[in-house]
Amino acid sequence: MTDRAPAQRGPEIDETAGLGGVAAVPFAARHIGPGAAEQQRMLAEVGYSSVAELLAAAMPETILTRQALRLPPAAGEAEVTGELRRLADANRTMVQMIGLGYYGTHTPAVILRNVLEDPAWYTAYTPYQPEISQGRLEALLNFQTVIEDLTGLAVAGASLLDEGTAAAEAMTLARRANKKSTSPVFLVDSDVFPQTLAVLRTRALPLGIEVRVADLAAGLPDGEFFGLLTQYPGASGRVVDHEALCAAAHERGALVTVAADLLGLCLLRPPGEVGADVVVGSAQRFGVPMGFGGPHAGFMSVRKGLERMLPGRLVGVSKDADGQVAYRLALQTREQHIRREKATSNICTAQVLLAVMASMYAVYHGPDGLRRIAARTHRLATILAAGLRTGGVEVVHEAFFDTVSARVPGGAAQVVAAARDAGINLRLVDADTVGIACDETTGDGDLLAVWRAFGIAVPSISEVDARCAEPLPAALVRSAGYLAHPVFAAHRSETAMLRYLRDLADKDYALDRGMIPLGSCTMKLNATTEMEPITWPEFASIHPFAPADQTEGYRELIDDLCRWLAEVTGYDAVSLQPNAGSQGELAGLLAIHGYHQARGESQRDVCLIPSSAHGTNAASAVMAGMRVVVVACDDDGNVDLADLDAKIAAHADSLAAIMVTYPSTHGVYEQQIAQLCGKVHDAGGQVYVDGANLNALLGFAKPGRFGADVSHLNLHKTFCIPHGGGGPGVGPVAARAHLAPYLPGHPMLDGNDPQRPTVSAAPYGSAGILPISWAYLRLMGPDGLTAATGAAVLAANYLAARLRPHFPVLYAGANGLVAHECIVDLRPVTKSSGISVDDVAKRLIDYGFHAPTMSFPVAGTLMVEPTESEDLAELDRFVEAMIAIRREITKVESGEWSAEDNPLVNAPHTARMLTADDWSHKYSRQEAGYPNGDGARQKYWSPVRRIDGAFGDRNLVCSCPPPEAFTQ
Ligand SMILES: *Cc1c(COP(=O)(O)O)cnc(C)c1O
Repeated sequence: MTDRAPAQRGPEIDETAGLGGVAAVPFAARHIGPGAAEQQRMLAEVGYSSVAELLAAAMPETILTRQALRLPPAAGEAEVTGELRRLADANRTMVQMIGLGYYGTHTPAVILRNVLEDPAWYTAYTPYQPEISQGRLEALLNFQTVIEDLTGLAVAGASLLDEGTAAAEAMTLARRANKKSTSPVFLVDSDVFPQTLAVLRTRALPLGIEVRVADLAAGLPDGEFFGLLTQYPGASGRVVDHEALCAAAHERGALVTVAADLLGLCLLRPPGEVGADVVVGSAQRFGVPMGFGGPHAGFMSVRKGLERMLPGRLVGVSKDADGQVAYRLALQTREQHIRREKATSNICTAQVLLAVMASMYAVYHGPDGLRRIAARTHRLATILAAGLRTGGVEVVHEAFFDTVSARVPGGAAQVVAAARDAGINLRLVDADTVGIACDETTGDGDLLAVWRAFGIAVPSISEVDARCAEPLPAALVRSAGYLAHPVFAAHRSETAMLRYLRDLADKDYALDRGMIPLGSCTMKLNATTEMEPITWPEFASIHPFAPADQTEGYRELIDDLCRWLAEVTGYDAVSLQPNAGSQGELAGLLAIHGYHQARGESQRDVCLIPSSAHGTNAASAVMAGMRVVVVACDDDGNVDLADLDAKIAAHADSLAAIMVTYPSTHGVYEQQIAQLCGKVHDAGGQVYVDGANLNALLGFAKPGRFGADVSHLNLHKTFCIPHGGGGPGVGPVAARAHLAPYLPGHPMLDGNDPQRPTVSAAPYGSAGILPISWAYLRLMGPDGLTAATGAAVLAANYLAARLRPHFPVLYAGANGLVAHECIVDLRPVTKSSGISVDDVAKRLIDYGFHAPTMSFPVAGTLMVEPTESEDLAELDRFVEAMIAIRREITKVESGEWSAEDNPLVNAPHTARMLTADDWSHKYSRQEAGYPNGDGARQKYWSPVRRIDGAFGDRNLVCSCPPPEAFTQ
């Protein structure tokens, strides 16, 4: 332990370095907030002399590893940027015309720089505190409006993880919503994307749903089914009128889901108009780079009556304490994963940042701009097809939007190879068929090159008679307008757009303003050097199904990352496919199921989950087809081993697994973890350790070594991918060797074993953001990572020590120490003063803070996770704010301030409220708005007062409100 010195602050004199012996500041000293001297002061407060001593006292001896991590030593920022440049250069950028749900798109530069590359957007947290999230909530409401308008359905959610999983969510939604049919059959059209089909099959299996593939354009097959899915346009490019199909399906008591292309919908009749109950898809081609598969915003819209079944988050309109329009997450208690085993979906982290980008693309282009892009794309495809026909090549489908299937008997591979030589990727469908997808970025030269690859010498575009028949049948031409709301007309100049983005970002509190002390969410630094490479075209423009020899850089990066993550967790194999923690959980449980099944023990279906677990755990277990049995916690918040014994005994033959979070969601290193793993193993079960709290373990303990079989990690927590306002995420699943054969696979991967589950649409999930975590590991090196864990645990214990005299700190482990977070118990003051956890959370906004996690895992408490990145001054600012708030509560307790009128219940205070001509409160405006004095810091003003969530739920509005709504 003694070799784990905390990071040094400031330039170090390195005897071995040249040029005067001054080495660059190590990155770890940039990432870790408190320097050596500050850490000493913090240690003194906690009562230890070194970080090593503190960690040894906090963690059980049985799990401590004393071996240094076997990772490459830390490299400097310039060096890492150079290495990433080399990896990027090993990818080959191409004109991507493969299609299948991933298309070239121009990200407007104003959006690229001022959303994707702007920390005000990408470092924001999920908008659970709506008062400080009005900017991104408005952007998400715009997103919902875009989806509702284009799909022609009543209500859309604020993003799902990708198109494949959105289709799977639609399948299970149809199963639940359909009370008429008892059939287990879900029909899938043969022209859906192959990756969507793979995800559907994976998700159907544990739930007893039978996926049946048929050519639905030929009509409905015989037999019963509860729902169906078609693609519009299909994978082949074919556009089919689904009106009769929808009517026939409804006639037979089934629900219809259409997977639709957003750009196509700008020209095509919307599925909602022809009878679809649910529409799903991806918003990728609205300005979001392909990124080798993600991240992109999946979407779902539903007809009226199904909105309460929507998975993921739904933004709605409500009002604040002054009656002003204000946004917040609607039906929030129904955000499905919170309902645990009663949840219908496990989605927690979604794709907020990408949904914001897609919405802004629509805001910037407006309805006419979108129509123009769609029309141009369609026109190019029309010309392409005409040229092919001129050259004697058969075009398979008469009706298409952007994608053309060309028949070249026996010659498809040759055409695809010739196009590749010309820098263009086409889709090799089979030996006789080539797929060619046009998009916003397609140019005349690309068409000429494609024709040449077919051996057709068309000298120029004008040569082709493109006045051939319009490939969209009249019945499918869209007549319904869209995006009539003024927001889609008001920001069309770049100046206006820039100001709109700035205006929204200024409404929000993100990490670029101050600390976001959210328990379990690890809101640490997202370093600029880590972020920069993700928008390089060599990473951003790669199609997920590009041939392997064009993606060598990505593959090397992925291999490194898998190896390094295996090393730091002690596991043998890692899959990066899951695109959120929730999906990693599902993948891990499916691996456990696969393992039991292979051993002839598929009756093992009970998953033990402690009562303190994160909601996703139980929701994932249900999705994996398991029965959830809850294990109690004792008074100290630890898993109750006696109850565990009882539950194991009760389910001895059917025990599949236990899912535990370590350190626990109570922020404590449970001492008996090794014992717990042993008990489950002895009973034939597997141990799943939820690795979302890995920030408290890295470098000190490895779940794969202290008894766990499988874990998911959250790269958007521990490994520095920013939260993006609620996504993107990456949730790798890591497992020991015996589970490795059951980790995710993908139909588009060479040599894929079809028995493996597919949990994301893309083979490597959200590959486009993996450079962030790669860079973090490379920059920190083994010592930096270890020092970060030490600093994170020290910071949490420092906060606990300083807050304890003022508020009880719930739960502590050995020696009264917490792990990387601590729970501040507000229930006693709520009892004595009526001041609730909500009041304290909102009052923290007046003090310039984002509230901690509220009422999870214990109602009436705040869970605080400072992370290693906050320096001592910021930690102290938080402590002082909490102490000042405690003093304010005292005034309520003593009756100096009434329970109805005090700065806590009235928080947050807006500038408008404080500058109003009348002020009738018993406390001053100064006390309200600048409670800790003026300071040098720019004051953050919440743009709205306390939001009435219940009002919005009673009056559910999930699209942009009309301008008149704001004029009162
Ligand atoms: C965040 C979290 C999850 C879920 O991860 P998502 O990426 O949001 O799906 C699961 N378990 C715990 C303990 C978490 O903190």
